[in-house]
Formats: sequence, structure tokens, C-alpha cells
Amino acid sequence: MRVRLALACVLLVLARPEAQEPPRTWRLDFYQTGGPGIEAYSFDRLVIEPLAWPDRPTADLEPSPAGNYRFDVIDGTGRVIFARGYDPAFAEWVTTAEVRRVRRTFHDSLRFPAPPGKAEVVIHKRNQNGGYDEVWRHAIDPADPFIDRSTPPRQQAIEVERHGEPQTKVDVLLLGDGYTAAECGVKFPADARRMASALFAQEPFTSRRTDFNIWGICPPAAESGISRPSTGVYRRSPVGASYDAFGSERYILTFENRAMRDLAAWAPYEYLTILTNGAIYGGGGLYNVLSTVAVDNDFADYLFVHEFAHHFAGLADEYYTSPVAYEPPARIVEPWPANVTTETDPSRLKWRDLLTPGVPIPTPWPKQEFETLSKEIQARRARLRAENRPEAEMTQLFREQRETETRLLAAAEHARKVGLFQGANYDAQAFYRPEIDCLMFARNEVPFCRVCQRALAGVIDRHSTGLRP
Ligand SMILES: [Zn+2]
Repeated sequence: MRVRLALACVLLVLARPEAQEPPRTWRLDFYQTGGPGIEAYSFDRLVIEPLAWPDRPTADLEPSPAGNYRFDVIDGTGRVIFARGYDPAFAEWVTTAEVRRVRRTFHDSLRFPAPPGKAEVVIHKRNQNGGYDEVWRHAIDPADPFIDRSTPPRQQAIEVERHGEPQTKVDVLLLGDGYTAAECGVKFPADARRMASALFAQEPFTSRRTDFNIWGICPPAAESGISRPSTGVYRRSPVGASYDAFGSERYILTFENRAMRDLAAWAPYEYLTILTNGAIYGGGGLYNVLSTVAVDNDFADYLFVHEFAHHFAGLADEYYTSPVAYEPPARIVEPWPANVTTETDPSRLKWRDLLTPGVPIPTPWPKQEFETLSKEIQARRARLRAENRPEAEMTQLFREQRETETRLLAAAEHARKVGLFQGANYDAQAFYRPEIDCLMFARNEVPFCRVCQRALAGVIDRHSTGLRP
């Protein structure tokens, strides 16, 4: 009896791929160049990162592709063994006006578990019809002596919150930028804990808290803060994060990907958020690449969670009245994010099963009043920035906006219903959102709408076993 029980245990262990020794993390570094007359991809290096692959084998293949790009790892038999959708900074840059004047090169990385033998990495780009076209293919061979096996300078990773083995949890790395050595010691851990608390204050993260590990790394900077070229602030910070990405004053990104990935490699992570040490409102989020947040801003909690949702689940912005760096698309097609649509036929709507029974489609809401209010706020906001006024005045304006908008939206007839609300994805006409208000729509004190919550929960399910410690 005991033998049979032991055998059953062995079989159980063999049947659970999570119990096997995890493979190493491989990283393909490459360059992507665009601009007048060119779109090119070129190989930089293949790196074996110091830590094991932090994810579950069941997460290797995404159920349905999302993102403007997708990469596949294909084994020697032609089988896709790993696939990820993603949205690189390059994909956003090609939607700005600059692409018609200037050629630029972006460095990027694709991370995946070590393949068992020779393989190919294939990049696909989404086309006008919503499908994918292959744009680059690169062969990799585990026996290649030029695979970089060297160890990058070691970074100390701190456990902000740990609930289990990385292979059974969603692993999020908070990477500090613009912190001096003294600030890395005390301020960064406190900031990291505060941002983790902000995340777990929102559903679906609250009820799934133990499915996460949160890690922190803080490479010390020579000076406090990060670059903000529009106001003459320049810092050579370790991660290279900066305001003014693509000319948008509140948009924080880094274009120092090569340096950033070597720093990040010392924590197990599937998701990466850069905490920038500063108070001026700003952040950014790229699906399956990274997100950023200015941690000392009064709206940092909101910003952190909103930008993380872009990064984590590819959720779209549901707002449409704030100025953005992107030009409107030449042709409107059904967007891939779960929370915006062009579809007005309720039977074909991607959130049709979540519609509130009896809700009118499209759903009436005080759109005119909202837009009038919003335009007035935007004009005052632009004026504050143009005059480089103290950040406290911007915070005051945002508070006023939150109060008036919340009052207007919460009192509307179809508030808190799932329907089809016109205005989303930077467009007042073509795109619709699921609820009148949502964390992806405004800085109001509201949760994620139910469509966003479902999308976020789906990603948590993929990367964690759901087993309690
Ligand atoms: Zn939403």
C-alpha cells in the first residue's frame, strides 16, 4: 500500500511540470530601425540571464494573441514552443509625426525560457486587417560559443512581498531610477511598499494578492531625480528613464534598454515597473514590456495602477480628451485591447456576456457636459505646464477635476452598468468603452470596470498556479 502511495506521489510530481527544474532565462537583444524609407531589424546579442525562467510552463503559449507585435520561438520540428504579444516603444513611435522626418533606432529585448535545442525566434507585426505579418527571423543554437554567458554586475534584489516560488506566482519587479545610494537604502523600499499597497487596493489584485511576488532593485544614481528635457533637467540615471517621451511632457519611458535589462536580470520577473524618484506627474505603460511612474506625485497610486494595467493586460486608455503624442490612425479597425471597441452590434460585442440586462446600446451618457468640462481643464493644465508652475497647482487642478467629473458621471442614469459608451482610445467618435467610468478612463476614485477586471484576472490566472502558500 505504502509503495503504491509513493508511486502515486512520484507520478503526481512528474505530471506537474512546475515541479521540474526550471530552465534558464534567455534574452535576445536586437535593434529596430524606422523612419523615411526604412524598417529594419538587426541582431545585437543573445544573453543567458543569471536567474532561472520565473514563469509556469503553462504560460508559454498565450491563448489569443494581443499587442501590435508578437514573437514566437519555434523548435527544430517547426513547433511553436513559446509565444508572446507585446507593444514596444517602437510601435508607438511609428504613430508619431517624427517618423516621417527622422530615422531612429530602438534597442529591445525578447525574453524566453532556454529552448531544448536549435530554434528560431520570429517577430510578427500586426497588419491593417488585424492579422500578423512576419517581419524578422533569427536562428539560435544553444551550442553557439558567442551566446553571452557572462554575469552582469550584481544587483541586490529585495523582497517587497513574497508569497511563493517564482514559477508559481506572478513576479513583478519594481526597478528604482534616480535614487542616490542613501535614497536606495531607506526611501526606495518605502516607495516600493507604498506602490505595492496601491496595486493591492484595487480589484482584481486585492483578492489575488497571494498569487504575486513583488521584488525591488535600486541601482544607485549619482544625482537624485530623472531627466525632464522640457524644463532643462538632465540626469544620467542608471535606468535612463526620462519625461517627455515622444514629446509628451507627462510620458516617462527609457530608451536605455540594454542597461535596464542587465540591471533587472537580478530579480525573477515577468513584469517590470520603473519607479522614478520625483514628484512631477508622469508615467507610461507598454504591453508586456514595462511601465513607469513618478512615485512622489500626489496621484502616484492611481498612475502606478493605471500604467501597470497597460503593461500587464494590454488594456487601452478609455479616455479621449487628453492630448497624446500619437496621430489618429488612417483607417479605423477593431482594436485588439479587451476594453475598447468599434463594434455597435451587441451580439458581436467582445463583452456581450457582461452587458447589464436591458441596457441601451449604445448607452446614453452626459457626453457633451463631460467634454465641455474636460476641455476647460485641459486648457488650464496646458497653461500650468507652459508657465512651469509648481506641481502643487497641478495637483489642485486634478483634485478639482476628480470632484466635478465624479459628481457628473456617478449621477448619470447608466452609471455602474456595463454597456457601450461612446468615446475611448483617444477618439470621441469611433471607439466605445464598457462603463461610464473606470480606472482606465479617468483619475476618479473608481475601480476598474468589469471588463478590465476580467482581462486582468485572466493574466493572473495564466502566470500563477492559484495555490495558496
Ligand atoms: Zn475599463
